[in-house]
Amino acid sequence: MQTYDAIVIGCGGMGSSIICALAQRGVRVLGIDQYAVPHRRGSSHGQTRIIRQAYFEHPDYVPLLLEAYRQWAELEACAGHKLLHQTGLLQVGPLDGFLVPGVRASADAHQLPIETFTGREIAENFPGFRAAEDCVGLFERQAGYLLVEKAISAYLDQAIKAGAQILTDRQPARWSVDGQGVRVAVGEEVFAAGQLVVAAGSWTNQLVVDLGVELQVVKKHMYWFANESSRYHHQSPVFFYETPQGYFYGFPQLDARGIKVADHRGGERVADPGRMDATIDRDDQRRIEDFLCDHLPDISPQVTDHQVCMYTRSPDDHFIIDRHPHLPQVVLATGFSGHGYKFAPVVGRAVADIVAEGKSPLPIDFFALKRFAGPTGSGDVE
Ligand SMILES: Cc1cc2nc3c(=O)[nH]c(=O)nc-3n(C[C@H](O)[C@H](O)[C@H](O)COP(=O)(O)OP(=O)(O)OC[C@H]3O[C@@H](n4cnc5c(N)ncnc54)[C@H](O)[C@@H]3O)c2cc1C
Repeated sequence: MQTYDAIVIGCGGMGSSIICALAQRGVRVLGIDQYAVPHRRGSSHGQTRIIRQAYFEHPDYVPLLLEAYRQWAELEACAGHKLLHQTGLLQVGPLDGFLVPGVRASADAHQLPIETFTGREIAENFPGFRAAEDCVGLFERQAGYLLVEKAISAYLDQAIKAGAQILTDRQPARWSVDGQGVRVAVGEEVFAAGQLVVAAGSWTNQLVVDLGVELQVVKKHMYWFANESSRYHHQSPVFFYETPQGYFYGFPQLDARGIKVADHRGGERVADPGRMDATIDRDDQRRIEDFLCDHLPDISPQVTDHQVCMYTRSPDDHFIIDRHPHLPQVVLATGFSGHGYKFAPVVGRAVADIVAEGKSPLPIDFFALKRFAGPTGSGDVE
């Protein structure tokens, strides 16, 4: 039986970064995934993810984001190609909504530069974008997008260079406690390790069945719309709108499919992530088309591509990065709640700190499980 210092289940958005960070510290690590990675069946596909600093979700994320920017630049330098494109981000919403006050709170707390526009000024300054007169636009110049599949491949390449072993496209891994360590089975093969990292995204509920915290998995649709206007070219801003109908966001045109648009709110519950139905939801599509018609009027309503993806939501929509409450040899990185990818380098470093040093100096206490009342359960899953 092969033995490792650590085994990571999941080589997706977070797992790839965690495996790389562990290997670069000299930890003997095995990364396992049920699919060939990157793939389209989890939470880390669809070409792009937004990265931003004035974080409307909470100002406590900002120091981690500043660190993430530094680490994305390091990964780009190692990979030899660009992964983070700083196109700027236009965020639009009512003054008394969730988005605009949240962006301002983070910008004020951390002295981040944000430019403000009235509803009318948005149309003048950002041709191709419209907003209601009573809305405000906040432009964050250092924001932009990440190329998600390329970044996963870059992390796995660097991990292998640093000595990690990667096992993909196999049966789902199962694990059990083995004294102070763990055993992980993949089909007939069994591996042993001192520590286990569960970075299994929407499959976490299946792997850690009695954590005492409910992770809700929801299906999200992404649509690409044909574009013939030069107003949404590849360097035009990423956008995020809070409207009464949803939180609509999108990306400039990167290829022949046109622009990508989706709604951050809502989502149908997924009982079994391995059997997610990928059919288009016509009502959801219609809401996106109505949004485009009102706010990006130069876009054609012709859908050129559609993909589904999953959010794994924690009860408060903040991340979970912690040791298992009863099994110190098991570390969890989950509950990224539809906004985690931009943090992938920091999650990698934080988890590697926990595995290698016992604790991370990064300010991640607010991701600890103790914030939820009374986690129970052994997590001892066969
Ligand atoms: C539509 C959409 C838009 C998003 N937009 C943004 C955004 O703009 N900005 C942002 O920062 N974040 C965004 N997010 C969130 C972000 O993409 C996710 O938080 C992040 O990618 C989650 O990564 P993960 O590693 O947890 O999951 P995944 O990448 O899904 O990785 C989990 C992996 O574990 C593997 N696995 C699970 N169980 C097993 C098992 N038993 N054995 C072997 N392998 C297993 C799976 O195959 C999978 O590869 C978005 C998410 C979606 C769905």
